[in-house]
Amino acid sequence: MLERLGSEAGIVLIPTMGALHAGHASLIRRGVALAGRLDRGTCVVWIFVNPTQFNDPADYARYPKTLDADLRICADAGAGGVYVPATEEIYPPGVNVRVPELPRVAIHPGLEDAKRPGHFAGVCQVVLRFFEIVKPKIAVFGEKDWQQLQVVRAMTKREMPGVEIAPMPTVREADGLAMSSRNRFLSAEDRVRGLAISRALRAATGESDAGAAERTMRAILAEAQIDPEYAVVRDAETLEKPGAGAKRALIAARVGSVRLIDNAAWPG
Ligand code: AMP
Repeated sequence: MLERLGSEAGIVLIPTMGALHAGHASLIRRGVALAGRLDRGTCVVWIFVNPTQFNDPADYARYPKTLDADLRICADAGAGGVYVPATEEIYPPGVNVRVPELPRVAIHPGLEDAKRPGHFAGVCQVVLRFFEIVKPKIAVFGEKDWQQLQVVRAMTKREMPGVEIAPMPTVREADGLAMSSRNRFLSAEDRVRGLAISRALRAATGESDAGAAERTMRAILAEAQIDPEYAVVRDAETLEKPGAGAKRALIAARVGSVRLIDNAAWPG
């Protein structure tokens, strides 16, 4: 399909690992709209469960696969194509697929970088590989994975500055839970407990200093018996200690057998 599109096509790429939901559909619809402004523009959805970004083999083994439903979601959202490569296509045996130099935001802030060692190396490796194969003009990423968005932005700026990274806001269930392919593994009880995460982020916005915001988030999580991996306010771009620039509140926590992450703008 990519050969058919040719190198002149203005491709807008939506990289995903499948098990698509309404959050992914919003990225695809945005991609279709952006493609409409490009010469010979088309939106391509990429579905590939990338082994190199999983630091937990059990998480990789049970990652949901729902290809038939995914293809319907892509078609309904207006995607021009869906690419579902085999692992050997992305990582040909005997070929060393380059891991780009990791930007500081991937290795320093002590958030996902600390809790999921090797994760961003795998993300940067596969995203750069996608970009080299597809040569997109634009790639759309969700704010749901906030640190990943900053990492991909920084990596792309250095490695492939011609590719624009377009962010999309997090799509939530009606009760506030951020949509995620892994939510299906939550028990009914854990799903209710998990709502404390979006509640904590909302409550944090009412605090005017970062320390108070972090304490409020922890208190709300503790009420739901959630011991977070982190519940912090950071600089929105570097993810280091907050300074004068825009700020973001970020939470990661294991709820039952599922690791959930979420974040929100912190206005304070
Ligand atoms: P993944 O779920 O890891 O396959 O993510 C593929 C893309 O969808 C990434 O750019 C994610 O940030 C984005 N994404 C995942 N969940 C959501 C959501 N609830 N709202 C918006 N974007 C999302």
